[in-house]
Amino acid sequence: MFPLSENISAVKDRISKACLRFQVPAKKVRLLAVSKTFSADRIRAAHESGLSEFGENYVQEGVDKIRELSDLRSALTWHFIGPLQSNKTREVAEHFDWMHTIDREKIARRLSDQRPKNLKPLCVCVQVNVSLEQTKSGVAPEDAKALVLAISELPGIEVRGLMAIPEPVDDPQKQSEPFQRLVALAKDIKAALTANKAARFDVLSMGMSADLEAAISQTDADFETLVRVGSAIFGSRAPKG
Ligand SMILES: *Cc1c(COP(=O)(O)O)cnc(C)c1O
Repeated sequence: MFPLSENISAVKDRISKACLRFQVPAKKVRLLAVSKTFSADRIRAAHESGLSEFGENYVQEGVDKIRELSDLRSALTWHFIGPLQSNKTREVAEHFDWMHTIDREKIARRLSDQRPKNLKPLCVCVQVNVSLEQTKSGVAPEDAKALVLAISELPGIEVRGLMAIPEPVDDPQKQSEPFQRLVALAKDIKAALTANKAARFDVLSMGMSADLEAAISQTDADFETLVRVGSAIFGSRAPKG
């Protein structure tokens, strides 16, 4: 049994409580449901319970579900949030609305070139390695501005903000520190963009099931906080093997 609608209510409740507690206007927080490993039917049910933004980590799995749910295409926003190899960029450019894990110029250029002309530019976030772990993907904080500036004029993509997956920690105070650094970095980058580009550099993709309150606590007036929530909505995932 998956009490999907109860889970969704509980997550929305956590979000509203965090907004109240940290004095963040509710409309500054957007909920992205991470549906990796769950079937198209579960996504359809989540949509019926009021969700419209979904995140996928694996290209083929995501494209299969987008095709299966093509009747809902105009009602849904699809986000690619996994690591992406350069030989798989075309599928993302052709099928998704957002891509969160840009960490090099080459991937951004391919996505821009491969974005079909009849679609709006692909919205992208630059992934920043805020915890400075050797193993995690993402650009180093000191290199993020140069990367954003280098890709900001590409016609097939639109740079909408930054994304981070901090190292998991339990202490809420410690959880908020990397998000605070991400916000400071994003404000610095926004100030370096031309007015047109800066106005659309307006999203921070941060916070997951375990740390969404910490992410919301750092919400800045200049950015929406896009929380990426998987297990708290769909239940725990079978290990990928
Ligand atoms: C899987 C995943 C999530 C969701 O994680 P939960 O802990 O299940 O909420 C969020 N962001 C990314 C990038 C993920 O890969």
